[in-house]
Amino acid sequence: MEEQKTIVRIKKLNKSFGDLHVLKDIDMKVLESDVVCLIGSSGSGKSTLLRCLNFLEKKDNGQIIIEGEEINPGTQDINKVREKIGMVFQHFQLFPHMTVLENIIEAPTHVRKIPKNQAVEEAKELLVKVGLEDKTDVYPSKLSGGQQQRVAIARALAMKPDILLFDEPTSALDPELVGEVLTTMKELAEDGMTMVVVTHEMGFAREVGDWIVFMHDGRIVESAPPEVFFSNPREERTKEFLKTTS
Ligand code: ADP
Ligand code: MG
Repeated sequence: MEEQKTIVRIKKLNKSFGDLHVLKDIDMKVLESDVVCLIGSSGSGKSTLLRCLNFLEKKDNGQIIIEGEEINPGTQDINKVREKIGMVFQHFQLFPHMTVLENIIEAPTHVRKIPKNQAVEEAKELLVKVGLEDKTDVYPSKLSGGQQQRVAIARALAMKPDILLFDEPTSALDPELVGEVLTTMKELAEDGMTMVVVTHEMGFAREVGDWIVFMHDGRIVESAPPEVFFSNPREERTKEFLKTTS
């Protein structure tokens, strides 16, 4: 098999908020077309790590290397870098005053600056992909949480990112709506999208994840393929965590 390209490489990343040391010497890599699931209890630093990766937070030190290039705000145009890194949040954050279609074409027309008719065409294809082709002209408030999150995924994809980051994408959903969003994410993974997913859905992590990263108290405690991670964890911390999730 051909060697997979490295999309993201993080080396010795540290981040504090005042006296609170939130990320401690994080080393991690994400290979092209892989799904990396980031798990750990609340407060362990998962969101901060994603936000550093997307340059919504500024690292204190360490390296973030995207597709071979070390990124340092100040030397690069961060907005350009961010275009390659899509993000899907727990609370979908759709624009409430725009229809589904308008939500999706907003960034492609204003940031990617593609013609509107092309953006509309691409948006419609994405809506087919997430199973919402009949919701084009509907406002977000008329959709279920699961549908809104699928629109948010389509909106992120419309920027044609090289990697998509998900921060607990199903945590705000009623239980009966979780499955449809996970199915959409699974289909994306099967299409070869590179993804980092913060999740408490261990079934998804086990089934769809190519690699599991477990964080505790700002450190990566254990990192392994799902077969190994879930069946034969090495660290005591991991075993304790897995007991609380099943
Ligand atoms: P997780 O996503 O794993 O629950 P977070 O990355 O959100 O963890 O938070 C890690 C720690 O950093 C927590 O103690 C949290 O309170 C703290 N924290 C997160 N964001 C900020 C911030 N902007 N200012 C101060 N403390 C923060
Ligand atoms: Mg979080």
